[in-house]
Amino acid sequence: MTYPTQPTASHFINGAYVEDTSGTPIEVIYPATGETIATVHAATPALIEQAITSAGRAQAVWAAMTGTERGRVLRRAADMMRERNHELSVLETYDTGKPYQETSVADATSGADALEYFGGMAATLTGEHIQLGEDWVYTRREPLGLCVGIGAWNYPTQIACWKGAPALACGNAMIFKPSETTPLCALKVAEILHEAGLPAGAYNVVQGLGDVGAALVTDPRIDKVSLTGSVPTGRKVYAAAAEGIKHVTMELGGKSPLIIFEDADLENAISGAILGNFYSSGQVCSNGTRVFVHRAIKQAFLDRLAARLDSAVIGDPMRPETSFGPMVSERQMNIVLDYIAKGKAEGARLVCGGCRLDRDGFYIQPTVFADVTDDMVIAREEIFGPVMAVLDFDDETEVLARANATEFGLAAGVFTRDLTRAHRIAAGFEAGTCYINTYNDAPVEAPFGGAKSSGVGRENSKAAIAHYSQLKSVYVRMGDLEAPF
Ligand code: NDP
Repeated sequence: MTYPTQPTASHFINGAYVEDTSGTPIEVIYPATGETIATVHAATPALIEQAITSAGRAQAVWAAMTGTERGRVLRRAADMMRERNHELSVLETYDTGKPYQETSVADATSGADALEYFGGMAATLTGEHIQLGEDWVYTRREPLGLCVGIGAWNYPTQIACWKGAPALACGNAMIFKPSETTPLCALKVAEILHEAGLPAGAYNVVQGLGDVGAALVTDPRIDKVSLTGSVPTGRKVYAAAAEGIKHVTMELGGKSPLIIFEDADLENAISGAILGNFYSSGQVCSNGTRVFVHRAIKQAFLDRLAARLDSAVIGDPMRPETSFGPMVSERQMNIVLDYIAKGKAEGARLVCGGCRLDRDGFYIQPTVFADVTDDMVIAREEIFGPVMAVLDFDDETEVLARANATEFGLAAGVFTRDLTRAHRIAAGFEAGTCYINTYNDAPVEAPFGGAKSSGVGRENSKAAIAHYSQLKSVYVRMGDLEAPF
């Protein structure tokens, strides 16, 4: 079956779609039905070579343009993405299975925000002047060169833009490898960027599995690697990049805590817990999957949560009323079902959900476990699916220590009406992104990234510029130079 919005070939290299069917075929499955909707082919070594050499040529041209010119291209691409939001959202839904209700407001739109934000910033990127008596130093903010972006499968359009926009704003070229589970969306991002005026080759997309990613990461011509993926993959990619002393950004997994105090606005806290566990069927890295609920409100919380989950509209992701879709793949569904079985076996109390739905596609019910303890597997490991673990607590000091007792540190949230407690908890969280009385917002203006094993570096915001550029210091002596001999 062919869907109208599909890209026309597997790769986008040097400003054009490229096909080479000798690469390993990768089937693209629509998660809502299990049907194959496209086949792409992994990049052969020859195509990887073309991607790197064309990126090298394009980078020189792109970096020679002024920031204003570069920014204009990015902002034009942002406008085009917004104009084509419907088409891009449909494609995102076919690629990931996420409901159109979500993709139409959270994917191409978020990608467009990144292109617009970094497009606006491109002309403002400068070095500085440092006066040293009559001598002086000036710094030049220079691009790193060739950047590799490697994406996870949960937000394929957004990840392609969150990495591409700051990289391009700084004058780099990017070679992006999407997850093999969701290969389609990044191709459209590349197509739009080039239609908007990007020099051919400045943003290439090559398909493949981990071996294609590894070939890119280890190539000596690559200067920077930005990965969004799991912690185990992050360890491998970080180590490979270290071998070549390359710059890295690592956006990795999490098992984030969400603390709900007894004075919280209960409906808002439940909204936060729903957004932080069931949006995108729970396939969000920053999800607050360890929900610590104060014992005094635990039963009220669980009763209301179960009632609200009952109103989730589960089904065909293309229907506008659908608010909960399938898992991205059969594999991910089975991983999540395994965790649900472990939760039951460990003695957690199933409050609702817990089963695969009896229909085509990879659907799992929104699932809530109560009476979860810190040592259970479902409270320690990233599940990456719609499974909320509710843990009880009595005391602020105790809950903060338990919230931080994890190798992860991506995000953390707190719901309370006590202003000073909210800020005390936020300061105490060992996490890169914290939320007070909200959860999972990710505006481009704010830095996003993880502490501890959840990552290195930050995406979005002014902070991303430091991760896609480097400073050169130039010393200038105005007078004679003294030497010891
Ligand atoms: P994986 O870690 O399995 O894969 C991430 C990407 O890395 C894929 O494109 C994968 O290719 C590629 N890859 C795998 N092995 C290598 C290697 N040795 N060298 C180079 N590239 C490699 O993650 P998932 O795709 O399963 O995504 C889910 C994970 O991503 C979760 O842990 C989630 O928390 C995390 N994530 C983090 C986010 C953040 O911003 N912090 C945001 C979204 C997700 P392929 O899959 O094609 O083999």
